[in-house]
Formats: sequence, C-alpha cells, structure tokens
Amino acid sequence: MDTTNSNNAIAYRAFSIGALLRHGTLRERWGALAAWLALGVVCILSGLATTSQGWYGMPLEFGGVHFYLTLYAPQILCTLLVLGVGWVWGAIPAYASTLTLALYAGMPWPWAALFACADPLGFGVMAIGYRAIPTRRNLSSWFSWLFYIQLSFAASVCSSTGALIWGYTNHIDHSSILAIWYGWWFGIFLQSVFIAGPLMAWLWPRMLSWRQRYSRPILNTRKDVRRRILYMLSTVTAGVLLYGFQTMQLSVHQSELAPPGDLAALQHALSLIRQTLWAFFWVFAVIIVFTSLMGYQLYRYYQETNDRLLLESRTLARTDGLTGLLNRRAMDEHLQAAFERLHGTSHRASLLLIDIDHFKRINDQYGHPAGDAVICHIAALIRQVVGESNTATRYGGEEFLVLLPETGIPGSMLLAERLRSCLAENSVLYEAHSIGCQVSIGIAELQAGDTGYSDWLRRADRALYEAKQTGRDRIVIGH
Ligand code: GH3
Ligand code: MG
Ligand code: MG
Repeated sequence: MDTTNSNNAIAYRAFSIGALLRHGTLRERWGALAAWLALGVVCILSGLATTSQGWYGMPLEFGGVHFYLTLYAPQILCTLLVLGVGWVWGAIPAYASTLTLALYAGMPWPWAALFACADPLGFGVMAIGYRAIPTRRNLSSWFSWLFYIQLSFAASVCSSTGALIWGYTNHIDHSSILAIWYGWWFGIFLQSVFIAGPLMAWLWPRMLSWRQRYSRPILNTRKDVRRRILYMLSTVTAGVLLYGFQTMQLSVHQSELAPPGDLAALQHALSLIRQTLWAFFWVFAVIIVFTSLMGYQLYRYYQETNDRLLLESRTLARTDGLTGLLNRRAMDEHLQAAFERLHGTSHRASLLLIDIDHFKRINDQYGHPAGDAVICHIAALIRQVVGESNTATRYGGEEFLVLLPETGIPGSMLLAERLRSCLAENSVLYEAHSIGCQVSIGIAELQAGDTGYSDWLRRADRALYEAKQTGRDRIVIGH
C-alpha cells in the first residue's frame, strides 16, 4: 500500500469553492469558474447527444445476457473533476447535464430531479472511498488501479439505479428494464475503467503541478476529516436508501394501476415487482461486498498506520534527540540483555564510559549551542570509530557509553585510544571558532563476580573518575 511517505500529497483534499471565492486571486477565481462553466456546458451538450444519438442503449450480448450498453460522456468528464478537484465540482455538472437530458427526453419534473441524483450518488461513493483510504489517484501503481476499479464498480452500480426510473418513465417494456439496468452500470463501469482511468493517469501530473503552482492557499484544509467521512457516509447511505425506497414505491404504484379482475395485468404487475426486487437484491449484494472490501482495506490501512506510528514512537523513545544515538533508556535495556546473555559464559564484553573534559568551560566560553555542536561532533566520531556492530549511546548530558560485545580489554583499549587521539588531534569548527576538546575514558570488562550490569557499569564509572583525577585526556581500566 502506498501510504508511507506522504499522506498529505495523496489525501483526497477538494478545492473549496467558498475558499476559492474568499482567498483566490481574481485570475484564479474567474479562470477556475470559467473553466468549470465551460466543462459544464460540454457536459450538458454531450449529455443531450447521448439521447439524440441513442448512446444510452447499444444492444449487446455478453455471456448469454442481453443488455443495452450505455455510453455517457458527461460521466467521464465529471469523474475527472471529482478525482482531480473534488466531489462538488463534478457532482453539479453531472446533475445539471442529467437533468437537462431527462427534461429534454420528456421526463416529468419530479422524476427528472430524482433521476439526476444518480451520478452524484455514484461520485459520492468514489469520493468517500478516497477520503476513507488515502490512495494515489495518479493510477501509477497496481494498487491505485485496483482501488480505482473497485470504486468505479461501486459507483457505477450506485448510479445505475437511475436506469430503473428511466425505464419506468419512458414506458419501456418491463422485461427490458433489467437489460437496460445491466447495460447501464456495465457501460458506466467500462467507460470509467477504460476511458476515465487512463485519462486520469495522463492528466494527473499536469493537474498536480497546477494545484501546486496556484492552489495551495485555496486547498480545503479542515482538520476534522473523521467528521467529514461520517457526514459523507451518512449522506450516501441516506441517498441509497431513499433511492431504493422511491424506486420500490414506483414499481408498487405502477402495479396498483392494474385494473382489478384482470389476471394478465395482475401477473404483469407481479413480474414487475419481482424484477424490481431482484434488481435491488443485486444492487445491495454488490454494495455489501464492496462495503466489506472497503472495511477490510480501511482496517488494513489503519492497522498499518498504527504499526508505523508505534514503530516511530518506539524509535523516538529510544533515540537521543540531539545526536541521534541511542539514549539511556535503550542502553539500559541493551545492558540488561547483554548481561543475561553473556554473564557466566566464556564470551567477553566491555564498556567504554566517555566524558568530555572541562565541558562546562566550553559552554561558558562559546555558549550552549557551541557545546551542543561539540557533543554532536563527538557522537559522530564515536559512531564512526566503534562501527555498527557495537552499541553507542549518549548516556547523560556530555557522557557517552559504548557496549562492545566479544571484546576484551586489549580490543577496547585500541578503540578508546583511537577515539581519544582523534579528538585530541582535531578541533571542532563552530561558526568562527575552532574548539579543541578532549575526553577521559573509563573501561570495564564484564567479570564473573558481577551480580548485575550495574556492578559492571560502576567499575567503568570508577575508572572514569580515576582518569579525571589523574589529569584527564586519558584512558583508565577499571578492576
Ligand atoms: P569534567 O572534566 O570534570 O567532566 O568537567 P565538566 O565541565 O565536563 O564537568 P561536568 O561533567 O560536571 O559538567 C557537565 C556540563 O555539561 C554541565 C552541563 O551544563 C553541560 N551539559 C549537559 N548537557 C548538555 C547539553 O546537552 N548541551 C550543552 N551545551 N551542555 C550540556
Ligand atoms: Mg559529566
Ligand atoms: Mg565532563
């Protein structure tokens, strides 16, 4: 899942129309609105062409099922708007073009108003999907494609419920309604995957640079994403339920028109209800499958986010903020583990306790930031000299502790001497100052008589104390 590096870059953040009007420059405002309006007009015209050219029902046979495949150009344009700019930006032209088309085709007003909700409903599902699980919309990886295909499927099924209204209001033979419905969602699904998808992949880098160049301040950055998801989720749930209820009502109403006593008309009405029930069974079956899949992905996403956060906070809790070395808490764990593993065995292990000489003077003379720079310099040097296989930590303010497994006194002496002489020879450059610094080092090897790692550490501390007492800039072995 590609959620690791920058959630902000892939999060589904729509342009807010309100924010655009409030904060956009004159050019941005009019440019965006004019482009949107022009796209809206293209949507409406291509929507009308759908009716006049008969693209809403191209007869096709696939797998023994007859259906009328739908091609609907506004849906492609609005998908791009929904993915690239936001739900509202795609939903409004989609609603307008479907409404115009329906009225042009002679659908009564109330039906047309309901019918036009179909595409915005499908886009709602898509927007929620991307909001719930931040996934790249550039369709550059197999995961982003899979996610997009899934969402397209759910969206096309949701939006295809309009096919039932289309069928009823156009007095289409009831037995053909199912075929229209199949062709509707299948056609929308196909054009989403094979036309809108590749177009999106091609457009995304261009849109992204446009967004970055002009639109940072008008991006909608409201923090309360959880409330938004809940809000959109309930809107779509209510939409689907209302849709289902309305369409069922429609079919019941139609069946009630059958004259009493007319057996053929009654049977016809029954078959109509049966078809509607089946249609809804399939719609809801697909929606439930989709919901579980989404739920699983949501769970996986949050699980992965949690794991990552846990790992990050664990790493942070064990790392020294100034030097990036391990901190005292981590070292105490290492010491305990090393003691348990090595004590009483023939394996050797040593500790180097390193303290900067007269560090207070450095702070006093050059200031605290200069002191910090010296600490960082020595930390880097320690890391370089002791290598990755040993554990180096900042154990206190200006004290470092190094754990050397499989190393006796001679090996430790060698390392300590390298460290001491390196430091003595090179001064630290800070701003215009060249700061000379030295260290004292106490060495202690793990002994059979130690009852815990604190005995071992105490020996290193005593050796360090002795190094300080006997003139500093030296190494003392603890016994
Ligand atoms: P000695 O040779 O005896 O070790 O002398 P010293 O001056 O180094 O004495 P000591 O170890 O007692 O002093 C440590 C000083 O280190 C005290 C404190 O102000 C300073 N210090 C501790 N942590 C930091 C830090 O993170 N940054 C800086 N700049 N100074 C620190
Ligand atoms: Mg000290
Ligand atoms: Mg010191």
